[in-house]
Amino acid sequence: MALPDWTVYLPVLCFASVCGGFYICRVFKCARISAWKNSPIAKLMARTEKPLFWIAYSLYTRTKLGYIFHKRQMRKARERYPAGHSRTQPTIINGIKIIPVPILSDNYSYVVIDTASNMAVVVDPADPQPDVGFSNIVQFVQINRILNEKDHSGGNRALKRRYRSCRVYGNAMDNIPGLTHPLSDQDTIDFGTRLRFRAFYTPGHTVGHIIYLPDGRALGGPSSLFSGDLVFLSGCGRMFEGNASTMLSSLDTVGSLNDDTLLWPGHEYAEDNLLFAAEVEPCNVVQKQKLLWVLQQRGQRLCTCPSTLAEEKQYNPFLRSHSQDLHRALGLQQKQDEDWTSYRARVLEELRRRKDIYKDR
Ligand SMILES: [Zn+2]
Repeated sequence: MALPDWTVYLPVLCFASVCGGFYICRVFKCARISAWKNSPIAKLMARTEKPLFWIAYSLYTRTKLGYIFHKRQMRKARERYPAGHSRTQPTIINGIKIIPVPILSDNYSYVVIDTASNMAVVVDPADPQPDVGFSNIVQFVQINRILNEKDHSGGNRALKRRYRSCRVYGNAMDNIPGLTHPLSDQDTIDFGTRLRFRAFYTPGHTVGHIIYLPDGRALGGPSSLFSGDLVFLSGCGRMFEGNASTMLSSLDTVGSLNDDTLLWPGHEYAEDNLLFAAEVEPCNVVQKQKLLWVLQQRGQRLCTCPSTLAEEKQYNPFLRSHSQDLHRALGLQQKQDEDWTSYRARVLEELRRRKDIYKDR
């Protein structure tokens, strides 16, 4: 998820803070500062490292203001990247065509087309405008993997107006616009005779995050993983609505999938992620080779998807919390009374902390 510019948010935040302050004072009739300090809201804000960030996050994900900002971001991105932020190519696996659609400043939506039945599935339609030849599609089905983040679901309603029979899938725990088919962990969805998507419940980034795995067995090829904001090339999403243990469990779901699975993430973060990985694990040879390739690709604004899970397991630090090389690089050791899973969660937490600092500097 990419939040809109802070310069845009600040006037709204100031306005919201002032209104919120007046409201709180009115409700609690607390003119004295000591009363404010003891209020539940102040205690809650004191527990968060960046209260303003969480106010912005809530406004963005839970209110109409978020949608207004999302539309503004879409307009700005279209002006900045009239042909999309990256150049992409379709991948065809035995008649199933997967088209990455670059939207906003670094997001990808995906269109999966069964060329035999002319049926299309759209994953994360944040922007309904890019033209990928929908007019030829007989049936149109739409899936959302990320609940309440407009950079993944902001185009739902517009697409639904255009394709009235389309279905919108996602987790009911998330505030997905236009949701028609709520999903649970391990649910399967069949589209025609050859496309079978399995949904995995993977909380951590958001409380209802879901990833989708179209099964490759029916196609005689590799499976594809649409990983949303859980896993990126050499990275993972921020833990906005979950802790490290929850995120680790979700990442282990990805780690348990076949090595030849193709990874289609929700963002083009490869270059930044691999530069961070190089800082964390400077002796990782596979990661160095991948970074060289990614720098070449990005030099020409070419898309870096898909990678395979076999590759990711070798260089993505967030899928390597079991690796002793990584433990040594981070300077961490398992404590005597600490079980293996708790230790790995601590490794993940430390990695995420370092990545957040790396991103902010
Ligand atoms: Zn995102």
